[in-house]
Amino acid sequence: MVDAAFVRSWVEEVASSVEDQRDYLTQLDAAIGDADHGVNMSRGFTAVRTKLADAANDGLAPGPVLALVGNTLVSTVGGASGPLYGTAFRRAGKALGDDGDVSPQGLLDGLRAALEGVQQLGAASEGDKTMVDALIPAVEAFAETLSTGGSLPEATTAAREAAEEGMRATTPLQARKGRASYLGPRSVGHQDPGATSTALIFAALERVAGRARG
Ligand code: ADP
Ligand code: MG
Repeated sequence: MVDAAFVRSWVEEVASSVEDQRDYLTQLDAAIGDADHGVNMSRGFTAVRTKLADAANDGLAPGPVLALVGNTLVSTVGGASGPLYGTAFRRAGKALGDDGDVSPQGLLDGLRAALEGVQQLGAASEGDKTMVDALIPAVEAFAETLSTGGSLPEATTAAREAAEEGMRATTPLQARKGRASYLGPRSVGHQDPGATSTALIFAALERVAGRARG
């Protein structure tokens, strides 16, 4: 079951994997952007860790935890990814409402709301070489697994695999959104940084769901 401890562990896993991969994310962004994606994500999730450790935020339900993550990312991260990820977490939080226990279907609703928020704000479609290229297949795979009777851990594994596939598929694409689009054809041949951080977020979710089962 997705409770507050589950969501906090997920966010903590994301924060530590962003720290581990900070330089890698920044290198990817150096090739087709301005070399700050790892730095941006690290700044944001460091602030998130501080917020979640604040005793004033003890006892928050899963939805409000995610909303707090979103608000913190919006207020601490500049660039495109701060508002986009901030909106994603805010929308997911809002979709989860104030329930203490969220079902796998409820988590799916949150993921769908996150995707919708990212697309409303950034207007990227699949194939534009952005985080959306990892997010769309991940949400679809999660939904498909649940609809065929799969468990939450199975849905998170399918989502992580689909996110990584979508991430790798950004390499041959020409960017049509964000800073990388300024490079035109020179953006071809490089993996998108935001799709890479989205895959990290789903890998973190898979690890937490796998632990929660056992
Ligand atoms: P900035 O591009 O402002 O320097 P970051 O480097 O932190 O911000 O993030 C870059 C990532 O943001 C890109 O790799 C891409 O995945 C994502 N991105 C940029 N613009 C959009 C958009 N309009 N919609 C979705 N994702 C976007
Ligand atoms: Mg950048």
